Amino acid sequence: MKVEAMVCHAPGEPLRLELLDLDGPRDDEVLIEIMACGLCHTDLSQIEGKAAPYPFPVVVGHEGAGVVREVGKGVSSLAVGDHVVPLGIGECGECGNCRSGKTNLCEAWLAEIAAPQPRFSLNGQPVSSYTGVGALARFVVMRERSVAKIRQDVPFHLACTISCAVATGVGAATRTAHVHAGASVAVFGLGGIGLNVVQGARLAGASQIIGVDINPARAEQARPFGLTHFVDPADGDPVAQIQVLTGGGADYTFECVGHSALMQQAFEASRIGCGCCTVLGVPPDGEVMRIVPFNLQLGRTVKGSFMGNMKGRSELPGLLDHYVEGRLNLDELVTHRLPIARVNEGFALMKSGAALRAVVSFADA
Ligand SMILES: [Zn+2]
Ligand SMILES: [Zn+2]
Repeated sequence: MKVEAMVCHAPGEPLRLELLDLDGPRDDEVLIEIMACGLCHTDLSQIEGKAAPYPFPVVVGHEGAGVVREVGKGVSSLAVGDHVVPLGIGECGECGNCRSGKTNLCEAWLAEIAAPQPRFSLNGQPVSSYTGVGALARFVVMRERSVAKIRQDVPFHLACTISCAVATGVGAATRTAHVHAGASVAVFGLGGIGLNVVQGARLAGASQIIGVDINPARAEQARPFGLTHFVDPADGDPVAQIQVLTGGGADYTFECVGHSALMQQAFEASRIGCGCCTVLGVPPDGEVMRIVPFNLQLGRTVKGSFMGNMKGRSELPGLLDHYVEGRLNLDELVTHRLPIARVNEGFALMKSGAALRAVVSFADA
């Protein structure tokens, strides 16, 4: 079939609308019509060539939501008409990692990303799908294990955010760091991911949630998500400011920007003896994080988190229950909705800091 998609042909180039070829679903696959897609900083890093694991030309977009339109004959858990989110990380449910109860990094998925198989093509040439999804297309084909069924009463432009921003942030607080009730938390970077760490920490019962950002407007924007204190680096060393606010260092810190100097600050702002620093931001290719070993030996830990350590099929859909029941704020997360034709503007809004989450849709065109 022919599918409209926004394609990035080379690093730094704006996305262009193209008509791609897409083969229909095989036995264990489904065809999904994408109804909305959130724009993420990692999409931008791929487009700009800064952290670009997929070859160009590429269809980015990994925060989609849509409707199943066709199912392969071996598919048992999904049906035509289901509302779904395609997953950057699948869940087979059977491998050692899936059964471990410790990680969301399915081994079948790890094998898949080691040898990605492009589903789109243009004039016979392969076109990559970023994270294996490529949701800035009208339709995508996904394996059954890489699709999560969601409830139908949440609009697509909000539901889509669970598949990256909300899972990554809320999961980092609740499934990676395991923030405890009464804890102090410091979040470096209050964009779409950082705000979800903030609301994840609130969900976990943290009593002090400090945000660090160079954009002072974030102080007010982050309050509805649960922020209690704001640190502006223009007022002095953020590590020292956090140490004063928390009486020595935060129980949990999170780096959500993808900047190695900030990772070091987040680590050093965690409490001596038991502080835990979780690294979420994706830095440019080749950047490394520096740690003074003695600061680690002082009892701190560093953790990494990918998609909030949340399993895509069995755990992700529950995030929408939190939204419907009033425990998660998605309404103020999605600050901009644009037709797909204005996707480049959407990325510019995110890069400038004007947008927390910009969501695009073919249906709004
Ligand atoms: Zn993302
Ligand atoms: Zn698995």
